[in-house]
Amino acid sequence: MDFSSSKSLFAKAQQYIPGGVNSPVRAFKAVGGSPIFIKSAKGALVFDEDGNEYIELINSWGPMILGHGNELILKAVSDAIQHSFSFGAPTRREVEMAELLVNMVPSVEKVRMVNSGTEATMSAIRVARGFTGRDKIIKFEGCYHGHGDSFLIAAGSGAVTFGTPDSPGVTKGVANDTLTAPYNDLAAVQNLVEANKGQVAALILEPVVGNMGCVLPAPGFLEGLRKLCDQEGIVFIFDEVMTGFRLAKGGAQERFGVTPDLTTMGKIIGGGMPVGAYGGKAEIMNCVSPAGPVYQAGTLSGNPIAMAAGLAMLTYLNENPEVYQQLEATGNQLVSGFQATNAKLGLPYTINHVGSMYTQFFTDQVVTDFPSAKSSNLAMFGKYFHAMLQRGIYLGPSQFESMFISTAIDQTMVNRIIEANEDALKEIHA
Ligand SMILES: *Cc1c(COP(=O)(O)O)cnc(C)c1O
Repeated sequence: MDFSSSKSLFAKAQQYIPGGVNSPVRAFKAVGGSPIFIKSAKGALVFDEDGNEYIELINSWGPMILGHGNELILKAVSDAIQHSFSFGAPTRREVEMAELLVNMVPSVEKVRMVNSGTEATMSAIRVARGFTGRDKIIKFEGCYHGHGDSFLIAAGSGAVTFGTPDSPGVTKGVANDTLTAPYNDLAAVQNLVEANKGQVAALILEPVVGNMGCVLPAPGFLEGLRKLCDQEGIVFIFDEVMTGFRLAKGGAQERFGVTPDLTTMGKIIGGGMPVGAYGGKAEIMNCVSPAGPVYQAGTLSGNPIAMAAGLAMLTYLNENPEVYQQLEATGNQLVSGFQATNAKLGLPYTINHVGSMYTQFFTDQVVTDFPSAKSSNLAMFGKYFHAMLQRGIYLGPSQFESMFISTAIDQTMVNRIIEANEDALKEIHA
């Protein structure tokens, strides 16, 4: 395969953009080598600047659940742009979008549109703090909630020690307000809450984690957190930026039957345009300005073009529940294919899977939290990634990512991916 155009673009990009990319994981640092510059995509296929073609399982990190260049969304966007790009004033589509979201996600009674998942989570914890009059939040090791300061905090040791900033530029003050627990460890959360009694405003987590690779909540974990938040008056926030509209029409909360107080959304909600949202109980959302005192705003929030794309996407998902059956079937087929291959080749690898999300971890441990995810052989994953790329399959370029399946993956592609996986595993273990 020739990657010369991508390589020369990356060389130039590094002159003008920090690290050559506008979001770190794109730089391929976790797998080695030089990133591929994408030129176009259609369905499940992406085409790079050198004319190489790949079946992809990134889906722009989730949004392209119907595949690339979906006709419904293309049409909605091209109709919308005829009427100008932005007004900074209320529009009809924002109301339709809010109404649809409230219908699709029953725990959401009121919703505010923003421009990214990061904005949604930042805003949600501000509202939780405003609502409760408390300062601290609890998050989980290995979950990702965007790049807001409050979330870039590494765990402290034990329940009472403060966390430390995980990035230069984040202040100790912020670290002092962020508590971090191990995922799937209810007792640890109970200890944190006990040690910080009456001070915790919010508990935020990915109900299914996508950002340390795919990790499922242990039975009873979400229910236990719900109960604890009720007892302690803590705002329970599901970050469904990744799982929303993917694991079910109503997200992970529908699939697992646990209801949060607030939900953050992004990715699929914009159909590929930059959109996020946060919403939940009316009592809490009524704190948001101008209904209430908690300030949050956005010049381009509810942007008409973005709303057109998102509305077309969500309307389709809402009206076509068979989408989720199809994603489920494709996911099951792929993962049982991978498992059969591992059995055949005698490889001990762990595959975590739910619906249209999965991760093959290069470890023999059961993966339930960040330490077990980190037991993976990252060098082996890097080799596997490039071996798959050589076979025309473009995976997320890190062991700590979930793969995303779209409805554009057909039977032929399923077979091709399973074959490529077996071939690639044989090559890297030869
Ligand atoms: C992607 C992601 C975010 C951040 O969204 P951006 O649009 O990248 O700011 C937040 N939370 C979760 C769970 C995500 O997967």
